[in-house]
Amino acid sequence: DLEYHHKGINRILKTTFYPIIGKKKQFQGGVFSIYDITEQRQQEAKIQFLSTFPETNPNLVISTDQEGNVSYLNPAVKNLLKELRLSEKEVSELIPGGLETLIDRFKQKDKSYLELNYQFRDRVFHYIVYRSSDNNHFYIYGTDITEKVNLQNQLLQTERIRAVGEMAAGVAHDFNNLLATILGRTQLLLLKSDNQSVVNELKIIEKAAIDGGQIVKRMQEVTREKRDRNYQPVDINEIIKESIIFSANKLKISTQLKGKTVQLHTEFGEKLGVKGNPVELKEVFTNLLLNAYDAMPNGGDLYITTCKTDDSNVQIIIRDTGVGMSEEIKNKIFNPFFTTKGEKGTGLGLSIVYKTVASHGGNIKVESEINKGTTFTINLPLSLEPVKSKVRKELSLHEKSGAIRLLIVDDEPELLETMAEILRLKFKTVEIAPDGEEALHKIEKNKYDVILTDLGMPEMSGWEVARLVKEKLPKSRVILVTGWGEQAREELNHHPYVDEILGKPYELQELMNTIAKFFNGRKN
Ligand code: ADP
Ligand code: MG
Repeated sequence: DLEYHHKGINRILKTTFYPIIGKKKQFQGGVFSIYDITEQRQQEAKIQFLSTFPETNPNLVISTDQEGNVSYLNPAVKNLLKELRLSEKEVSELIPGGLETLIDRFKQKDKSYLELNYQFRDRVFHYIVYRSSDNNHFYIYGTDITEKVNLQNQLLQTERIRAVGEMAAGVAHDFNNLLATILGRTQLLLLKSDNQSVVNELKIIEKAAIDGGQIVKRMQEVTREKRDRNYQPVDINEIIKESIIFSANKLKISTQLKGKTVQLHTEFGEKLGVKGNPVELKEVFTNLLLNAYDAMPNGGDLYITTCKTDDSNVQIIIRDTGVGMSEEIKNKIFNPFFTTKGEKGTGLGLSIVYKTVASHGGNIKVESEINKGTTFTINLPLSLEPVKSKVRKELSLHEKSGAIRLLIVDDEPELLETMAEILRLKFKTVEIAPDGEEALHKIEKNKYDVILTDLGMPEMSGWEVARLVKEKLPKSRVILVTGWGEQAREELNHHPYVDEILGKPYELQELMNTIAKFFNGRKN
């Protein structure tokens, strides 16, 4: 055999010559075989490189004898074992199938090295195995590629969401046109028809078309490119408080239906500024809160905490004690249109959350256990710029609104307590009374700026409460809450001591706006 190495253009070639020898030992000719051994040589060079200074090498170096008995572990391996709470004897755990199997696999191949990836717990390692020609020992070089793999998965995920989103945008556009036609024609027919039963049917079609339009709108939101890149410094706690208030209506309705309540626990860190779009960020937390309420149909606890992390992030943790989800579902929740809620879900909430968090330079993680609950952790880059404006003008109250004192009178105590807790996020003093008598008792002792009273209560009606309150505290404002919204509004003229009427179930946001109307611009 003749063998020689030829360095061609960036390739290393190995040539073997097989001579053909005749019976009389005379040379008859021969066969040249040319192999490209570039990869092999590169690998060997890499191994050579890796094997230098194993004592200080941050990568893993394990060597074994012919049978797979360990003869050397470098400090990096020893440290890793310690970190994973494994003894040195258990080093085989880190190897797919164990050391012996790996060596066997190697022997069966006729390559000079073996390359593979292996996941152990939540870490991923890349291994190269090779046999030294000096002492026939095996060398295993490992690199921790966990972060690289995670990053790749994340990119893949983002890419998938983007692709589905783009498709959605196309579909949404077509649907919009179709729905506009359906809606237009239906409304035309509604004008023409005087047959009541036909009108009723048409109204159902009209409503379906309008609802469809809403869904399309949400769909377009997933794909909409950064609405305005004009990010401003915002106080994340304020955003979350707004979201809690905004989503509270859902909580309230489910509480009223089932009589079970969700207990809210909040812990806000200090000075948590983030640069971003307040409307988009509010949507993020509203979506997460609505999902949490959905996950707790029988009540439970909702924990919201915000804090600063060591690596200059604002961290927001939203934890519920709801139904949780399986690993399989967990892997899909950020995909557009993935929902387990059937007709009631759109599957768009979390994909919007994901996209918004990413476009704000942050990340979101989820942990979940079936029947235990779910935790979403969001990190957003901390901004030290001073927060100038309030969250959103029309939604927020006067600067001094924190000082407004509230008294709520309602005969549904359970719901009342939860609502009060939410209102306490915005107002320093929020007290509750289960009936008119207790309310008047409280007024004897303390002053209130706003009294919110239910109309229909067994002992004393809301009108009565309002009148007596105004006698004592003429400067206070009284809001009456009633299921008879419009009808009661006509009564207002006869009852000067009621300042405003809210329909039941009222939205907290509506309440905030009403209060804002009373006090905005007021001096103190
Ligand atoms: P939708 O709420 O319309 O279903 P989302 O994108 O908001 O869409 O959520 C997708 C799915 O993720 C939900 O259908 C649900 O299965 C799951 N999910 C989201 N949040 C939670 C949670 N807090 N607990 C349990 N499952 C959740
Ligand atoms: Mg949702």
